[in-house]
Amino acid sequence: MSGPVYERVALIGLGLIASSMFWAMKRGGLAGEVTGYARSEETRDTARRIGLCDRVCDSAAEAAEGADLIVLCVPVGAMGAVAEEIAPALKPGATVSDVGSVKRSVINAVAPHLPEGVHFVPAHPLAGTEHSGPESGFAELYDNRWCIVVPADADTDPEAVARLRALWEGMGANVDEMDADHHDLVLAVTSHAPHLIAYTMVGVADHLRRVTESEVIKYSAAGFRDFTRIAASDPTMWRDVFLNNKEATLDILGRFTEELFVLQRAIRMGDGDHLHEYFTRTRAIRRGIIEAGQDTEAPDFGRAAKTP
Ligand code: NAP
Repeated sequence: MSGPVYERVALIGLGLIASSMFWAMKRGGLAGEVTGYARSEETRDTARRIGLCDRVCDSAAEAAEGADLIVLCVPVGAMGAVAEEIAPALKPGATVSDVGSVKRSVINAVAPHLPEGVHFVPAHPLAGTEHSGPESGFAELYDNRWCIVVPADADTDPEAVARLRALWEGMGANVDEMDADHHDLVLAVTSHAPHLIAYTMVGVADHLRRVTESEVIKYSAAGFRDFTRIAASDPTMWRDVFLNNKEATLDILGRFTEELFVLQRAIRMGDGDHLHEYFTRTRAIRRGIIEAGQDTEAPDFGRAAKTP
């Protein structure tokens, strides 16, 4: 890639996803100037201290003013209000994007605020850690991860889409395009329902801990430990994900409950063949994920703590 993809980029919200974008853009020389804004003074001060963004602004509108690309990196439930706040500052021809984990509700919340002549190209990078905040990001977060670009409607300017794709590819991601409803269903299966199950399992263990004192923590072997990593994810972000992807998540959880009953019955009836067959099928899925380069064989799933 020669030269930046965008002259001016604004990041609204300066947590894990935005800070990783900033370091990845700098690594690839993908943006001229990057401005940033976070709601709290504490986060803005931290950003200034660690050099996160070329210019940290005191309002979202100030950060967005004159930018060619504005990326909303706040929790899904806050996207609409932020879009409303920056709308008057957007220049004609600019592109607004976001990184929210849910797409249909974000499109519904943001699109009505955007003025004529501004492109809206939502996206969702499928990459994260259980850490959050301005100091949690690192340039490699998106390397070889998927980013799903979800054009808001069929009339979205193809050039604006191509440019955003080029940015994500420059940050190391593989890019796919998808319709918003399909995205929300796929993510309900691959991310949202699994998170809820992890939260539940850790909650169950927490109740049990009161019976067994500290044994659950002391002997937590891989299975439970992996659940705790997922269940340590940001509470605000995940509250918003479930409230905004209600239908698809409830659909998948309904199917999950049915499967759970079938397995429960197999255990009760001593149906070892059923259990063995089931686990053989699920093992193949794990192998497929490793073969696709989306995870490693490492016992920590390749997710040892990284620092910027
Ligand atoms: P994060 O580390 O918690 O950072 C969130 C940022 O949003 C902070 O700068 C915070 O400001 C700001 N913010 C929070 N509530 C706000 C509000 N009501 N109005 C304005 N700003 C607000 O979160 P993140 O992990 O980067 O997630 C950001 C977005 O990326 C979310 O939409 C999430 O769904 C999506 N996403 C996350 C992951 C993941 O694994 N973490 C993966 C893919 C996509 P303060 O610091 O000042 O409070």
